[in-house]
Amino acid sequence: MLNIDLHCHSNISDGVLPPAELVARAAANGVQVLALTDHDDVSGLASAQAAAAAAGMTLVNGVEISVTWGGQTVHIVGLRIDPAFPALAEGLHGIRLGRIERAQRMGDDLARAGIAGAYEGAYDYATNKQMVGRTHFARWLVAQGHVPDTRTAFKRFLTRGHPGYVEHEWTTLENAVGWIRASGGMAVVAHPGRYAFNARQLHLFLDAFRALGGEGIEVITGSHHPSEYEKFAELARAFGLKASRGADFHAPGEGIDIGCLPPLPYYCQPVWQGWPELASHSSLS
Ligand code: AMP
Ligand code: MN
Ligand code: MN
Ligand code: MN
Repeated sequence: MLNIDLHCHSNISDGVLPPAELVARAAANGVQVLALTDHDDVSGLASAQAAAAAAGMTLVNGVEISVTWGGQTVHIVGLRIDPAFPALAEGLHGIRLGRIERAQRMGDDLARAGIAGAYEGAYDYATNKQMVGRTHFARWLVAQGHVPDTRTAFKRFLTRGHPGYVEHEWTTLENAVGWIRASGGMAVVAHPGRYAFNARQLHLFLDAFRALGGEGIEVITGSHHPSEYEKFAELARAFGLKASRGADFHAPGEGIDIGCLPPLPYYCQPVWQGWPELASHSSLS
């Protein structure tokens, strides 16, 4: 069976491995086709492509775009995008500018809760200074001894109702899907199980996503408990969306490793069906 993993992060966003090391780890885990999907940034793709070519692996150009829809943050993965496409590049740049301002407000909010220096601390943890995110704050909170691990950091801080969480307006669903499609890519809903939508809201969201030209949804992801796979496979089928698979790998020892997920349920239509770059890999599934 083809080992394909279409969601992971390098240190260009909130992962810890540089793109080339991420590709090497994927290759060592038997991944044949990998998409690098950093948050709101595509600047890791060039070195990932070079490393993938050297390893005989196929690297799909990807991105994970932060969106606000219905008062919630949702993530839209773009696959087979053109990272040089101007509207996409400019749109992502705008999101990154918003991240810096947001990170300062997060730092201010933590300071009010008695934790000083968090913005500067998180900034130090970000390799890409335009891409400061909650994970960098979480890693800093761990290093400072405020919490034992990043999981706890997101339990006590950084999430709605806790210190360090600030409301933020990301881009629109229309922009994210539009930029992805205009650059030649396919838009995929990331980890649908993670959103605080009720069933009706989730259906409205998927209707809106489809109406804008969205085509896929993650079914097998590190963010879903195995007991949820079937539910999202059914949802994909009900909404006529293709199914994707990706670990959402960020760091060794955190969550599921790259390329180590179960296959899609047999009745799913994979997002990668018909991709010409897969022809070089012998057993297609
Ligand atoms: P941001 O885009 O800056 O809001 O950060 C979102 C990132 O934080 C996600 O992509 C995850 O990497 C991480 N994250 C969010 N919630 C959690 C959680 N409960 N546990 C661990 N990591 C989380
Ligand atoms: Mn992340
Ligand atoms: Mn995500
Ligand atoms: Mn992700």
